[in-house]
Amino acid sequence: MKFGTLYATLPVMKHPLLLCLLFLFSTQLLGQEASRPVPLQILCTTFPMHLFTRMIAEGRSGVEVRCMLPANTGCPHDYALTPEDMRTLSQANILITNGLGMENFLGAAARQANPKLKIVDSSQGIKNLITLHEEDHAADAHHHDSAMNPHLFSSPRQAAQVVRNIAQALSELDPDGATVYKANAKKVAARFESLAEEFAKSCAALPKKKIVIEHAVFDYLARDAGLDIVAVVEEEPGQEPAASEMLKIIATIKKGGATALFTEPQYPAKVGETIAREAKIPTASLDPVASGPKNAPLDYYEKAMRANLAVLQKFLK
Ligand SMILES: [Zn+2]
Repeated sequence: MKFGTLYATLPVMKHPLLLCLLFLFSTQLLGQEASRPVPLQILCTTFPMHLFTRMIAEGRSGVEVRCMLPANTGCPHDYALTPEDMRTLSQANILITNGLGMENFLGAAARQANPKLKIVDSSQGIKNLITLHEEDHAADAHHHDSAMNPHLFSSPRQAAQVVRNIAQALSELDPDGATVYKANAKKVAARFESLAEEFAKSCAALPKKKIVIEHAVFDYLARDAGLDIVAVVEEEPGQEPAASEMLKIIATIKKGGATALFTEPQYPAKVGETIAREAKIPTASLDPVASGPKNAPLDYYEKAMRANLAVLQKFLK
């Protein structure tokens, strides 16, 4: 078929007005396509960073908040970047990090994947950080750029500051969304602070204060709630203690008079339970919210923390 014949068979070609309208219509569509903004890609490293950022960005159109690590990963102390992570990083505009050495897996490779990426350290400027145990520091010196405990997220008091930091950074990087970010952060931080008050008040009323935890994840919560950590099961997160270390921990618990041992959903409870059995203290699970379900509801943190408070009240009375 020749082109001439094809044109002739198309009815619009015979009506100049229709052709004109079609042209206008199509250019308008194209124009809309071109002016439709590409969503701002906010990537968060871990589950708590993702949850907090989603709370802050709620109602802000034109942004996409994604999580780099699977929601069930937990603390990424032993995490290694995958090729898919590199692709995800290359597509992001902003990266929200925990900071304080939690993302040592990022390294120089992340920068190479995306030299324009704006990296936000959500721990920036937070005062009264807790130093990691001496052993942790010595063992981790080769891959830790900080000797400070990075688990700010698991204490509502500190999480409130993390939320304010993320909102401040997003407001600077995406000024059109500043009103939304700041209004949300104000509400969320106020709720987290009242949650921190609940912890402090309720724990002050508890007769027992001495606890054993799985890894250093609850240092800030214990300090802010007035609890006393007597021993830690895994000095090096993810690494089970040797038999000699277990005996040392059992002796410390007996000497220090801990009331309960709290395991975490993200680490196997077996070693902690063995230690607790030997030391003749009960075990229960506390959730630091280092991990959670995919697409967690926005009140997930507060619900998990209130459940933790109920566990503390049950075991430390
Ligand atoms: Zn951790």
